Amino acid sequence: MAMSCRERVLAALKQENLDRPPVAVFTTCDTIGMMKACGASWPEAHSDPQKMATLACAQADYFGLESVRAGFCLTQEAEAFGCPINMGTEKSSPMLKGHRYNYNPMKKIYDEPDDLPDMDEFLRTGRIKTTLEAMGIMQKTHGEDYVVVGGNTGPFTLTGHLLNTENLVYSVWTEPERAQKWTKAISAYSKAYGQALLDAGADVVQMSEPSASTDILAPTDFPIQSGQFVKDCLGSLKGHTILHICGDSAPIIPYMFDTGVDGISVEEKVPSEKAIEIANHRGCMVGNVGCAFPLFKGTPEDVAAAAKRSRDAGFNVISAGCGVPIGTPVPGAASRPPQTSYPSRRVCGILLIPSDILGIPQINQRLK
Ligand SMILES: [Zn+2]
Repeated sequence: MAMSCRERVLAALKQENLDRPPVAVFTTCDTIGMMKACGASWPEAHSDPQKMATLACAQADYFGLESVRAGFCLTQEAEAFGCPINMGTEKSSPMLKGHRYNYNPMKKIYDEPDDLPDMDEFLRTGRIKTTLEAMGIMQKTHGEDYVVVGGNTGPFTLTGHLLNTENLVYSVWTEPERAQKWTKAISAYSKAYGQALLDAGADVVQMSEPSASTDILAPTDFPIQSGQFVKDCLGSLKGHTILHICGDSAPIIPYMFDTGVDGISVEEKVPSEKAIEIANHRGCMVGNVGCAFPLFKGTPEDVAAAAKRSRDAGFNVISAGCGVPIGTPVPGAASRPPQTSYPSRRVCGILLIPSDILGIPQINQRLK
């Protein structure tokens, strides 16, 4: 009997040998095509649990992806802390308009992390509450057939949203203990939100920690400024955990696994084969089809070629390397009936990668 999407993704998370890897996007994937197809759009879908669940499931219902995933951006925690937010439009993500605390290493003006929100209140606030409710809806409507993924923000990234990322990074060089003190305090919220996502119905917590990318933070600073706190947030959660970091994560892949996560999600900036070699079978590898190219600008053939490269290298879940651009095209999507009404699953992936392209036996020879 054929595996369900849920069974396939769960097996991939455990690095089991499969006839083909699943195609699932654990990073954000909410395109205009998906909004048109399912009738739930930004910005309303950010704040309405039913619309959020509908849009989150459109990636499976209309687009053949093999998991379902919400929240839709990395500002929801900052908003719950009281940061002003512009909620964006159908075509643009919510944006931070300011920070919550004073933290200025140049002027030596610092708030201390002692006036933080009540944790229960935090989990009942704004889009945190919306996303938790959406998890429950998604588990009910799709949980039998699909893995439900809840996305949250990594502790160093969230701390930067609250203080000012540039200033936080500057203080990593000048006063590293002060930076750590803040990130440690804020990591309690990332941890509680991760646990709440699981309690609400998520099977997987996918944490995005873009501000710990090697473009921003020196690889040698990663373990102490981000990794140890990610470990505290994700390492002990009773559910599956994936850590996503943007950019060329090659120098920090071993540190990413040191956090105790089940798997990591990496961009195409790390060549697929190199990523697999560095990862050395320490966990599930998710990625690494490029978002700008080929997903946004390439042809379906380009996408299929990139997906095959990830598959051949040994990625366990074929996925976008980062958040999928909102304008990523899917030919004919709006007029296509929901995938669930197909007599058999014929395609997978947002550019309709025919599943037989990925379907050679023994996809990861080294895992035999
Ligand atoms: Zn990314």
